Amino acid sequence: MSPPSLIEAHSNLSETAPVALSYELFPPRSPAAAESLWTTIGELESTDPDYVSVTYGASGSNRDTAVELINRLILETTLRPLAHLTCVGNTPEELAGIIGELLDVGVRGILALRGDEPKDGAAPASGSLRYAQDLIELIRRVEQRRSALLCAGKVAVGVAAYPTRHPESPNEAHDVEVLLAKQRSGADFAITQVFFHSEQYADLMTRARRAGVTIPIIPGVMPLTSLRRVTRLGELAGVAPDPRLMERLAAADNDIERRRIGVAATVDLANAALDAGAPGIHLYTFNEHACALDVLDKLALPRPARPASRLSAIARRQVLAS
Ligand code: FAD
Repeated sequence: MSPPSLIEAHSNLSETAPVALSYELFPPRSPAAAESLWTTIGELESTDPDYVSVTYGASGSNRDTAVELINRLILETTLRPLAHLTCVGNTPEELAGIIGELLDVGVRGILALRGDEPKDGAAPASGSLRYAQDLIELIRRVEQRRSALLCAGKVAVGVAAYPTRHPESPNEAHDVEVLLAKQRSGADFAITQVFFHSEQYADLMTRARRAGVTIPIIPGVMPLTSLRRVTRLGELAGVAPDPRLMERLAAADNDIERRRIGVAATVDLANAALDAGAPGIHLYTFNEHACALDVLDKLALPRPARPASRLSAIARRQVLAS
């Protein structure tokens, strides 16, 4: 009989991996929106997520508000930001500057995206990066130049993945090839576009693993509580919402009933993704906490027990902020 392996000998190494929890926020567009965002941030912080992602306008339009929000998250909260960044709308030199700025304020995670092309069909500025893959390579170059400042540590680079065909792709197989190319260029993990049918995430996982994609693919899940929002995001992302859910939301007598239906549908979707092997759940919050927290409550994610010192740091910060 062979001796027990390292993992068998240490029971805590063979335990199932904890599930990551993260939220997406976007930079506020007005002082009033900023105020309510900070209430949301406080509520989300109390759930001790692994990170929160901050979106970036594809035109670079909200660059300052995005960097400001990230800065405040680092300085004033216990949250770890994941900064989105897009190729569209910035020259490579500007992008290298923003990446350096983010690393300097303490960001250690960047979601490298191409961004959506301008609606007016204007051609991208000459010399701009074409694909998310190019941005990953740029991030890795900036990181390498700052290797000493980072104590040779690594910046976590995430990318987008698509359970249903990206609107510009010829087919889903091409999307998986692109995901594999992004992994080869240095992506560490992926977060998916919204999806409305449980089998779409499971199917992506199967196709990606078969093609050689090994990085974690985290399902991006939106609370399916608002008919208007589901419709709008479905249009923006080119993903058709589930017609049965839409009918049920439309037929609901009141907002409480609509929320109950939407939260239950979201929990089912997230649980199906977890059953398909999802390593985490990324909740699109739309800067509101109530529905996200309802979903979280009912999901009962297997989360690691946090040290009491960390939890008391969160509580202390919240007392100071109130
Ligand atoms: P890419 O991976 O570059 O792909 C874009 C298109 O080009 C795809 O059709 C792909 O198949 C094709 N392609 C890529 N590489 C190649 C290649 N080498 N050869 C041929 N074809 C190729 N947008 C924002 O503006 N701001 C945000 O903050 C933001 N956050 C997002 C967060 C998540 C989790 C997701 C899923 C999307 C987000 N988006 C955001 C939207 C995203 O920018 C769009 O979906 C965009 O259209 C594509 O971005 P990408 O990074 O997937 O691009």
